[in-house]
Amino acid sequence: MTQDNASPANMSNPVTPPEEDSTVYKTLLESTKAIPWKIDWRTMTFSYIGPQIETLLGWAPESWVSAGDWAARMHPEDREWVVDYCVSQSRSGIDHEADYRALTKDGEYIWIRDVVHVLRNADGEVEALIGFMFDISERKKTEEKLLQLQKELEELSFQDGLTRVANRRMFDSIIQVEWTNARRNSQPLSLIMLDIDYFKQYNDHYGHIQGDDCLKQVAEILSSAGTRANDFFARFGGEEFVLVLPQTDSDAAKKIAERCRKLIFKAQIPHAKSLIGPVLTISVGVGTVIPGYQDESVDFINSVDQRLYQAKQLGRNCIISGN
Ligand code: GH3
Ligand code: MG
Ligand code: MG
Repeated sequence: MTQDNASPANMSNPVTPPEEDSTVYKTLLESTKAIPWKIDWRTMTFSYIGPQIETLLGWAPESWVSAGDWAARMHPEDREWVVDYCVSQSRSGIDHEADYRALTKDGEYIWIRDVVHVLRNADGEVEALIGFMFDISERKKTEEKLLQLQKELEELSFQDGLTRVANRRMFDSIIQVEWTNARRNSQPLSLIMLDIDYFKQYNDHYGHIQGDDCLKQVAEILSSAGTRANDFFARFGGEEFVLVLPQTDSDAAKKIAERCRKLIFKAQIPHAKSLIGPVLTISVGVGTVIPGYQDESVDFINSVDQRLYQAKQLGRNCIISGN
């Protein structure tokens, strides 16, 4: 690059401005938030770094001697890939950028985006690297916040808004996973469906708000019924709940169903308008299957739902099970 005129083209090399304009350029460079730097490729030493570096990281410009200083002041988890990437890109003469955590003199880390331009001589050989470091810590914080929000949103989309237990959507996914597992391993899978008795009358008598509170209480009680790590509880819809019990045979499933019925009874939730008695009760359908390759999970779910319906027909507050 020649330095014999002050045409705008010269601005593409901001660290070797024409003599007469150098003060202007220097002032401009050193008053921006981005930190300019230049490394001589042959010696791998800094020939320039903006004084702003000291404001940002605490290390004085004079302490940036070699590319090794740059690498040493990088988070150990970022160092290897950043150095390898920058060296290989530079060697190939490709402009590039890298985000990494730079070490401050106080021992903290700040997210930096380093934007690098490769300067070549007339023979096309790499001569120097020039670049700007940008403080992107605020941007990174925003990105992390967004990721966190996205995660929360994903979690919320599988959660029932009222009772905070898993929702129908989650149940649909889980039952598929457990169905496939049970089929692959030829192990029994049990399903329990539970429905509150005369809940319409409960709402009519106590009001919808108390109805909601009641649903929350029932969900909380029933969610403790399955005790194994893979037992899964969800609100199926309305005042109906489900328990998915992997590797559980019909006898064990019946016991858990009975536990559910008893837990609700023990809570003694008043239900003045129930035709069964003075407290809230539930009806329960239970099924167990070792899925075969011809079987469909939807048929299994329907068969358990049928049993729940039978429990209602037989007077409610009871359990209908079968294999
Ligand atoms: P059964 O014993 O046959 O189950 O009778 P039921 O009255 O419980 O059944 P039905 O299906 O006729 O009524 C269910 C009621 O559950 C009707 C609906 O208003 C109520 N329900 C469904 N979801 C909610 C909810 O989120 N909050 C409240 N408060 N009530 C709900
Ligand atoms: Mg009901
Ligand atoms: Mg119902």
